[in-house]
Amino acid sequence: MIVNPSASTKRDSSRPGGRSNMYANTKTWNPFKGCRFDCVYCTPSFQRQAKRLKKRCDECYKFSPHAHPERLTSSAIPSGVDTVFVAGNGDLAFAGKTAIPALCAVIREKNKTRPNITYYFQSKQPVCFAPYLSQLPANVVLVTTLETNRDHGYRSISKAPPPSVRHQQLKDLDYARKVITIEPVMAFDLEPFVSMIKQIQPEYVWLGFNTRPASVRLPEPSAAELEAFVDCLEQSGIDVRGKDLRGLVLDDEARSHVAPPSAPVSKRTPEGQRSKGRTAICVGA
Ligand code: SF4
Repeated sequence: MIVNPSASTKRDSSRPGGRSNMYANTKTWNPFKGCRFDCVYCTPSFQRQAKRLKKRCDECYKFSPHAHPERLTSSAIPSGVDTVFVAGNGDLAFAGKTAIPALCAVIREKNKTRPNITYYFQSKQPVCFAPYLSQLPANVVLVTTLETNRDHGYRSISKAPPPSVRHQQLKDLDYARKVITIEPVMAFDLEPFVSMIKQIQPEYVWLGFNTRPASVRLPEPSAAELEAFVDCLEQSGIDVRGKDLRGLVLDDEARSHVAPPSAPVSKRTPEGQRSKGRTAICVGA
């Protein structure tokens, strides 16, 4: 079933314990920040947030990879949420060789009093986690973004490894707990993309449209294509968690996340509801 949580509150997620704009009921913990992948959709989101910090940290302002070691303590880990997005204002691929072991040590310390928090370690270059798999506490989940299955043209979107490489890297990690973020979702090929996701066997998938279409135009799937994609994932037993879906309700039991009127919804039924009676044909579901 698709779960469509009300999106996270829009606050400054660049702060040490700021609420994450990426995931519901999640806060960021930022002992490391910055990134050099230069995704086009990052400029109006994370990087714009970082620009607000010019007076506090020049490296944050420039979005250069750097550490904030004063936050590398268990007391700096945000409270009051189920999930902590670690280094959510950057990519852990740039955090350096000592970063993952240092984070794991702090999480183990925190686990003595708060063992029920889930930690997202996210990177668009997930092979960066390979040397540390045996050190990861059991409540760490490895996350990568797959906006599409298509490599062609991706270089104009990001300097990160293309989707097929990223997928292979995550797949090759001998680690049980994985999550995939498909946001901002881009135009895809149904069967190959579903197959990619199934090969990873993620605990669940986050799915959402580009939240800043006025600033960044991306090739996007139609509403029907997105519904078919979700159908195929669900038929494969993969839990899909909705983010900004521009008013689409992708499950009859799910709650709607209503988009602002200006959002360019590509296709909806008149009531903004999912079409009934349509079932995607999913090969090997
Ligand atoms: S990988 Fe993440 S942090 Fe880095 S540029 Fe892309 S969106 Fe921004």
